[in-house]
Amino acid sequence: MNAPVTLKRLGADAARFVAKEKKLYIGGKWVPAADGGTIEVLDPATGAVFNRVPEGKAADIDLAVAAARRAFDDGPWANMTPADRGKLVWKLGDLVEKHADELAELEALDNGKPVTDARNGDVAFSYELLRYMAGWSTKICGQTIPLSAGAPFHAYTLREPVGVCGQIVPWNFSFMMAVWKVAPALAAGCTIVLKPAEQTPLTALRLAELVEEAGFPAGVFNVVTGYGETAGAALAAHPDVDKVAFTGSTEVGKKILDAARGNLKKVSLELGGKSPMIVFADADPAVAIPAIAYGIFYNMGQTCTAGTRLYVHKDIADTILTGLKTFAETMSIGVGLDPKTQIGPLVSQEQFDRVSAYVKAGLADGAKLYCGGNRAGTEGYFLEPTILTETTSEMSVVKEEIFGPVLVVATFDDDGIDAIVKEANNSIYGLAGSVFTRDVSRAHKVAKKLKAGTVGVNTHHVIDPALPFGGFNQSGWGREQGYEAILLYTEVKSVGIAL
Ligand code: NAP
Ligand code: MG
Repeated sequence: MNAPVTLKRLGADAARFVAKEKKLYIGGKWVPAADGGTIEVLDPATGAVFNRVPEGKAADIDLAVAAARRAFDDGPWANMTPADRGKLVWKLGDLVEKHADELAELEALDNGKPVTDARNGDVAFSYELLRYMAGWSTKICGQTIPLSAGAPFHAYTLREPVGVCGQIVPWNFSFMMAVWKVAPALAAGCTIVLKPAEQTPLTALRLAELVEEAGFPAGVFNVVTGYGETAGAALAAHPDVDKVAFTGSTEVGKKILDAARGNLKKVSLELGGKSPMIVFADADPAVAIPAIAYGIFYNMGQTCTAGTRLYVHKDIADTILTGLKTFAETMSIGVGLDPKTQIGPLVSQEQFDRVSAYVKAGLADGAKLYCGGNRAGTEGYFLEPTILTETTSEMSVVKEEIFGPVLVVATFDDDGIDAIVKEANNSIYGLAGSVFTRDVSRAHKVAKKLKAGTVGVNTHHVIDPALPFGGFNQSGWGREQGYEAILLYTEVKSVGIAL
């Protein structure tokens, strides 16, 4: 595999955006960071710096929060009808679809991910979600409540937007994670300060351009690029922010909680995972093998719901593992911007080193290398899809989130569900899980017993704009998508009228 000059693969629209000077989007204006600082943006396929974005810090966060506050408290947004708000959110969805190829290219360049996945996954999901959430704008309502103890009141509830929202997102699905947060917040009538990850800031800035083009009032949506420790921390701690929504590591999620203490802002967290996939002896290999491969290797395993732990019944283990090896070894590794690529680079040198160190630790702990494990190519951060077998529950590769294309495998020989479900649930996380079997009764029983926010039966990744998504245990607080996401961005007020 060779890594050609990646930028030459960009279409005209994406190339035009890359060539532009990048600014923060605050209060409907494009401005540099207050102190003029910038951050380098790297191409993970080559390691080369190809762009700079402003390095926003606490002073920029202050300006953005003030703009969001004004837009929330008064002005056109505060007085807009739900129908008009919904139309704007729908229009934003249309603009995202109109520019889908460009957005997919920017994401593939910035993050390294396969452009075909970015187009059909990240970006397509995002415009569908914007339209789905646009529909909620006009359907958010309270209830009339018959009072239980006979007080002479007519009582009802109002469901109101929570206010100014700080939204902090990671690099693995930068655009889609931003839209997961932005879409319900806008539909609910909130205002936003978004802080994208330092590694992948481009699509959030392009999203701000589309927000501007859609015609949202100034200050409703603001973007501050910058580092987590400065800009992110200032946003999470800001006394004038009413809610913080975070996706990223469990470790930083706990810091967000600490930062939110000061004004007890509302907090929702989408954190790490170590999701199990259980394959019983009666599973259909033709279904299970591609689903498992996609479960772990999609987005190079840099997916919070990645199926990272495979528990396979010994009677079917050879068939499944042989199939997975063939699948892994024939995946097309290359630059993200090549439409044929299925495995791009990891996002950064840091992530490459981290994942490689886990593979080494797994082998030192006694796991066997079944396939992959090596760097691919000579530049950029490419790692072969990797499978480790004979793993045990105390190994770090089994306990900790690797966030790379590394599947850890253990076999079991009990046909009952209790022991293997107990093993699958033996994790501090609880984001997703899946079971492969042709026995309907067993599938339902396992689905009920897995401690996970999302369970797949004969599939692994299960997401849809209408389906709640989030974690049990240390995988997070709250659910995004569906009406649950509207609940995250609204508060309930009870009103009683003395009769
Ligand atoms: P991370 O550090 O949790 O970053 C997520 C976001 O939080 C980024 O925008 C980051 O900013 C920001 N941030 C970092 N420190 C912060 C702080 N003290 N206050 C406020 N915001 C802060 O994740 P990462 O560094 O990208 O990756 C580390 C590991 O996290 C990965 O290897 C993986 O295990 C896990 N991870 C999980 C998910 C998930 O969806 N569950 C996603 C990404 C990563 P900057 O990065 O811009 O500095
Ligand atoms: Mg970081």
